[in-house]
Amino acid sequence: MKIAVIGGGWAGLTAAWTLQQQGHAVALFEAARTLGGRARRIHSRSLNLAIDNGQHILLGAYTETQTVMRELGLDTSRLFHREPLSLQAADGTFGLRTLPLPTPLHLLGGVLAAHGLSLNERMSLITLTASLRLHGWKTTAGLSVGQWLEQGGQSPDVIRSFWQPLCLAALNTPISDACAQLFAHVLRDSLGGPKAATDVLIPRVDLSQLWPDELAHRLNQQTAEGAGLHLAHTVRKLSACTSAVTVDDSRFDAVMVAGNVPSTLRLLKQLEPVKGSQRYLDRLAGFGFLPIATITLKLEQPWQLPQPMLLLRDHPAKLQFGQWLFDRSAFARADPEATTSPAGNAATIQAEHLIHIVISDASALQTHDQSDVVAAVTAQVQAQTRRFGPMPHVTGHDVIVEKRATFAARPGLARPAVDSPWPRVWVAGDWTDTGYPGVLEGAVRSGRQAAAALLRSLA
Ligand SMILES: Cc1cc2nc3c(=O)[nH]c(=O)nc-3n(C[C@H](O)[C@H](O)[C@H](O)COP(=O)(O)OP(=O)(O)OC[C@H]3O[C@@H](n4cnc5c(N)ncnc54)[C@H](O)[C@@H]3O)c2cc1C
Repeated sequence: MKIAVIGGGWAGLTAAWTLQQQGHAVALFEAARTLGGRARRIHSRSLNLAIDNGQHILLGAYTETQTVMRELGLDTSRLFHREPLSLQAADGTFGLRTLPLPTPLHLLGGVLAAHGLSLNERMSLITLTASLRLHGWKTTAGLSVGQWLEQGGQSPDVIRSFWQPLCLAALNTPISDACAQLFAHVLRDSLGGPKAATDVLIPRVDLSQLWPDELAHRLNQQTAEGAGLHLAHTVRKLSACTSAVTVDDSRFDAVMVAGNVPSTLRLLKQLEPVKGSQRYLDRLAGFGFLPIATITLKLEQPWQLPQPMLLLRDHPAKLQFGQWLFDRSAFARADPEATTSPAGNAATIQAEHLIHIVISDASALQTHDQSDVVAAVTAQVQAQTRRFGPMPHVTGHDVIVEKRATFAARPGLARPAVDSPWPRVWVAGDWTDTGYPGVLEGAVRSGRQAAAALLRSLA
């Protein structure tokens, strides 16, 4: 079959790869010049460097993403820096790391040994997690994470040090709004999974190099007519009937629409109404979105931060919005064996002395002047990392605000399935009904599910 995939984010890429693996001719259309969508390499004009559009971490539980990479012949142990879960506040006021013990003792011991929380608080954290596990990782329908934590007797300190950063990192939605059930799914697959599921995986190379670039190469190697990669091609027209689909002016046997929600909605609205199509479109129209901001600081010289990821305490009233501090050059110190770069840009990541400050649910930041925010966040990092020695002089910076970084994961959000009501049309994206929040693994699983559904239906 000749299949069109619209969108080269991780969902569309996974679908394209799965379909190509099954021997189909795939034409992938991507509006941007680089593959990867919301997880991609960009060129920073202010730093004159290739950087990621945002710092991304994966969890050991993200097994499907690692499977896709291995299918492409890539060595995940070289491409990721992997370490046991470790939540350390930069200012030293809180620290929790999993212990080298069999599961679930690695976690239990880690919580008991955590510093910055009273014994009561540590016990309440263990009790709430154990009770969630006992209830099959199910929460009451319609509950927000905030309500669930309140019912579970969590103190403001446990929430601020542990639950809130975890919820924001996973759902990019404030605890007062975030869906408790979706959060429980993340906890089930990470805290409730095997020991390796809680590991944190940080890319050593840029996000497009991680695997999208390799897939681009594979797509371009196809010889069938009409198959291949079409970068910088925004699809504007879509039509479908029972025998074929037309994407712009080319005919295909089927289409996978793997854009973001607004662009997918725009394309699907062009299709003739069929049974259930209005309901499907209404679901797409029901999504809200939240931004993530990343401030990258270029330092004059290397900085000896002890680990690649540290928690920051935010003080929004002082414009100190920073929540996480990334120093990817810390890999080299943590893992000297891996410093031989598997690809060019790994060397850049380690050599350029960059640090990145991540701000999830960054709506508040957008109402302020960017230079004021950069100054305040720089001061925040300096103040909270004092124990590691003075931060080197900042020689440049970049600010990226992804306005629609993820969908707002609110209780009751009805997410569409990968099977659309239209003939020969399937959809993929982190926003489809995967049971995951808006994360890479959700996008990859959606791409897999959508490709499998298409193949089943047209077999
Ligand atoms: C700053 C930031 C930080 C994040 N951090 C993490 C993290 O740490 N861990 C994690 O797991 N997830 C994280 N995420 C979420 C993760 O990036 C997304 O879940 C994932 O990339 C979504 O992939 P997708 O393929 O579903 O959608 P997208 O990546 O949005 O892909 C859609 C693609 O379709 C293209 N497109 C749209 N319309 C058309 C058209 N008409 N024609 C052609 N092409 C079109 C777009 O250009 C885009 O490339 C983060 C996201 C951001 C923005």
